[in-house]
Amino acid sequence: MKKNFALILTVAVSLFIVTSCNTGISSGGNENATNEKIAGENGFQIVGAETETTPVESADDAADDLAIWYNHEDPSESAIIATNKQKGLVVYDFDGEELHNHPVGRVNNVDIKTKFGLGSDSITIVGASNRSDNSITLMKLNPETRELEELQISGEFKPKSTEVYGFCLYRVEHKARFMQDHYHKMYAISIGKDGLLDQWELVNDSIKGSIKPRYARVLKFDSQCEGLVADDETGNLFVGEEGKGIWKIPALPAEGDKKTLIADIAKSKLEADVEGLTIYYGDDNKGYLLASSQGNNSFAVFTRSGDHKYLGSFMITAKGSIDGVSETDGIDVMNLAIGSDFPDGVFIAQDGYNFEGEQPVNQNFKLVSWKEIARQFQPWLLIDNAYLPAKDQVE
Ligand code: CA
Ligand code: CA
Ligand code: CA
Ligand code: CA
Repeated sequence: MKKNFALILTVAVSLFIVTSCNTGISSGGNENATNEKIAGENGFQIVGAETETTPVESADDAADDLAIWYNHEDPSESAIIATNKQKGLVVYDFDGEELHNHPVGRVNNVDIKTKFGLGSDSITIVGASNRSDNSITLMKLNPETRELEELQISGEFKPKSTEVYGFCLYRVEHKARFMQDHYHKMYAISIGKDGLLDQWELVNDSIKGSIKPRYARVLKFDSQCEGLVADDETGNLFVGEEGKGIWKIPALPAEGDKKTLIADIAKSKLEADVEGLTIYYGDDNKGYLLASSQGNNSFAVFTRSGDHKYLGSFMITAKGSIDGVSETDGIDVMNLAIGSDFPDGVFIAQDGYNFEGEQPVNQNFKLVSWKEIARQFQPWLLIDNAYLPAKDQVE
């Protein structure tokens, strides 16, 4: 009896060790020690979060991606639209409180764009890759209530990819010499675990008052991809191939499908998986492309335009009662001031292991002051809270 007990105990302890070795993260203290060690070995910068969101409702791997909505009327009342990939979309305020949730299914990645002309309205669209039925979910953000509302879609919105995974929106503004020649186009772009990228133009079906997805192109990558972000001002689309690196292609299908590998895991500080991608906007195409390097709990910073030079990486460690960040999926960043809490912008990251004290709790999102990140770099990264990116304009 005693022997059996000893055996069971040995098995249980071994299982525990195996589980914690797989992740490397078993407590808040361990997360910090791991991150400090990685930072030391790689010369990464270290910052801490100011705020964290309430944990998502679902246990295990559930929080994934997020997109920041900038509220022009009152920036302190902006919103974070996030995914609980087991349940649906969740809206948080910048104190991290949940405002609203919309159980639309297993939405993995999310993006938001302003100024879509629907009928005679200009609406803010929220789109997500939905793994419940392998489709794209489109919703509208109500700027008054910060709640998500249903939109009417004409026809099916399904990719050629057999397992939709990553997602982003792309809005292109064509400014001609004469006012009547100005136009904009909005695209939805998804990518699947099979490496197939699908792109649609979103067309205003004014007779039905709905949005019609018009298929635009399919492109193939060699292995599993997820992170996607389109730069509305330079026309670049960045694609994260999880085990390979970051690709750049023209976001506009008419400009071709040429792929350029701008960051190669084999030759960089990125460690698989490459996950969330986002863009810090400054004027004159200044700013940065940021990437979540999930394998070493860090975030890599590249120049936004030109040759996308690697400028360094940072990690998020515990600060006050808020734990550090590890194994991040989605990220987003905003250069504009969000109230008095983030006067110089904010960077937000999903956290794969959330702790309250030493107690593991459901995953959440951490909010970091952009200024704190920018000042860790030598020279400082750009801090521009005055530039209004095209993606955040409302008229
Ligand atoms: Ca992934
Ligand atoms: Ca954590
Ligand atoms: Ca993910
Ligand atoms: Ca926490």
